[in-house]
Amino acid sequence: MPIELRPWQVEALGRLSRARGRFIALGMPTGSGKTLTALYAAYTVFNSDLTIYLLRTINEEGVVWHEYNALRGGGITNSDISTLHGKRHFCPREFIDEGEPVVKCGNCPLYKNLINDASAHCTGILNSDEKRECIDEVLDGWSIKLLKSMRSIDPTTADINEAYLTVLGLKPPSEVNGKWAGDCSYTVMIGTVKYAGLVVGNYNYLLHPGVKVLKGIAEAARNPLIIIDEAHNLDGLPDAYSRRISPVRLREMASGITELCRRYNCGRIEGAVRPDTLTPLINGIANKLEELYNRSASGFKVGENAPVVDIENITRLVDEAAVLLAPYLELEVNEADVKALRVINRIGRFIDSKVMLDNYVAGRLRGYGAYIHVGKKGPSMWLMPKLPKYVYGELLNELHNATWLLMSGTLPSIEYIRRVYGFPIHDDDYIIINARIGRINSVRIIDTASSRYSERGDETFRNYAGIIANIVGGSPTGIVLLVVYPSYEFMNSVLKYLNLNGVAVALTEGVVKSLKAVRDEAVRIVEGGGRVVLNAVAGGRFTEGVEIRHNGESLIKAVIIAGVPYPNFRDTALQDRARESGLGEAWFEQRAVVNIMQAIGRSIRSRNDTVDIILIDERFRWFARRLPLLKAN
Ligand code: SF4
Repeated sequence: MPIELRPWQVEALGRLSRARGRFIALGMPTGSGKTLTALYAAYTVFNSDLTIYLLRTINEEGVVWHEYNALRGGGITNSDISTLHGKRHFCPREFIDEGEPVVKCGNCPLYKNLINDASAHCTGILNSDEKRECIDEVLDGWSIKLLKSMRSIDPTTADINEAYLTVLGLKPPSEVNGKWAGDCSYTVMIGTVKYAGLVVGNYNYLLHPGVKVLKGIAEAARNPLIIIDEAHNLDGLPDAYSRRISPVRLREMASGITELCRRYNCGRIEGAVRPDTLTPLINGIANKLEELYNRSASGFKVGENAPVVDIENITRLVDEAAVLLAPYLELEVNEADVKALRVINRIGRFIDSKVMLDNYVAGRLRGYGAYIHVGKKGPSMWLMPKLPKYVYGELLNELHNATWLLMSGTLPSIEYIRRVYGFPIHDDDYIIINARIGRINSVRIIDTASSRYSERGDETFRNYAGIIANIVGGSPTGIVLLVVYPSYEFMNSVLKYLNLNGVAVALTEGVVKSLKAVRDEAVRIVEGGGRVVLNAVAGGRFTEGVEIRHNGESLIKAVIIAGVPYPNFRDTALQDRARESGLGEAWFEQRAVVNIMQAIGRSIRSRNDTVDIILIDERFRWFARRLPLLKAN
């Protein structure tokens, strides 16, 4: 099928072909065919021999896969696509702790089964080196076979491991009496990247300092193109890559060790304090740390980051805990004992965090901040990069042969991209394409409320609830209204007073977990003639990912922005980001603009979509002028 490009896609390709540097930013509205444009450019403008397409979630991976197939069908490329997934899509649930596998792939029973299955193809070879070589060749052959199939396997398939294993003729994992049968296809999947022309995966695969699976192939490529999709999500990297020291975890480690020592001989570990002595010592340290953390975080609320007040004493206590815990890293546990490995891994992570803290205190950790984070389960200390560029900054120089293309439907300003993301973009290479997708019917500002921190209280929340209830009550039936609040705390405070009186069904972020469940439920209610109110937090999962469409049309017909969604001004980590970027208040403003435009983008997904925008905050009298989509309409 020939590829038909829309006029704005042709315009974007023309401007990309005139780009001057190797760092380019492309802003195109949601629904305008950004992904297709970028891939088309990879093959026709940049002539890249390797395209690495980085994104945030697996759902977005599905779009890239779809567009790649369209281009391949249209004869624009014949390269192969490799679609990557994180380990958590492969590991059985009990192998995962704090988002990380507790077993190293090399020690994992499922990897060993895979090697055994591969070695069954190498019978009769006695020399161990030759046998290893043969097994590597079999694994390589499997990677090539899998790669050839990836263009027909939708990467959003629920059980991707099973789908890949089916291609390879291998069995999925199963546990019988504590023994794992079956295989894991993770390492075979990773092997596909060597042979692919297009690799699609999560930001981590290149940007995470500890992962960088793709760095080697990017270095080896002649002319690699690295696309960062929905680049405004780079702002989430500092939180995701923070190291944490938590009193709750310390206590859990102590009780985990006690349990371990009932099953293993801990008496033989050199320098280890016996578990019955260790537990009270660690608990004592945890209590003192908690006290210091609480003192730092006095007056801060759940979710906020406070400055660290007494870092010397905190460091001393962390050192004491490390001295007590480190010997247990030597405990030899059964490599299939996931419960034991979980405890050992946590100790390892704690020691890593302690080293990081030492470096921070000694001034060797450039661009990092230390904060006391107030969590639901209590306070913890976070060591966090102040800006996304400190996570991956070196890579921009190291991959000197690469062209980087940042894309977003809500692209931050060029100044923001330079200072916060660290991409030295030339003025001419900041490309904004104003495609008119869908229509904003109306924009209404309600200025009888204010979400300013200084004015927040029951009166404010009741006021917002009343205004929202009126809007919902006066809206047509059979639609979805997306209400976006500046924070969870603000949302929950308003929801205490929001009485929809049976005129609408509320689906609330944090209560309904899966986006698919939200969509199915919303479509069902709207189909039955009802109204749905989606309560969402700015920058949260709903505003980043929810799409409620039926018969090719978005059912979100109204977007209500209940308060200017500035990031929390009181949060010390966010203040540091603003200061470190040199943007000051403009940093907060940019985040608010991106949050609003992202929310509005959920309602306009294609040409025929229409939406009414209601902005509730007296500050919108001037702030609305900052919103590009509204200016264009
Ligand atoms: S081999 Fe697979 S299941 Fe085992 S740790 Fe690695 S990713 Fe997880």
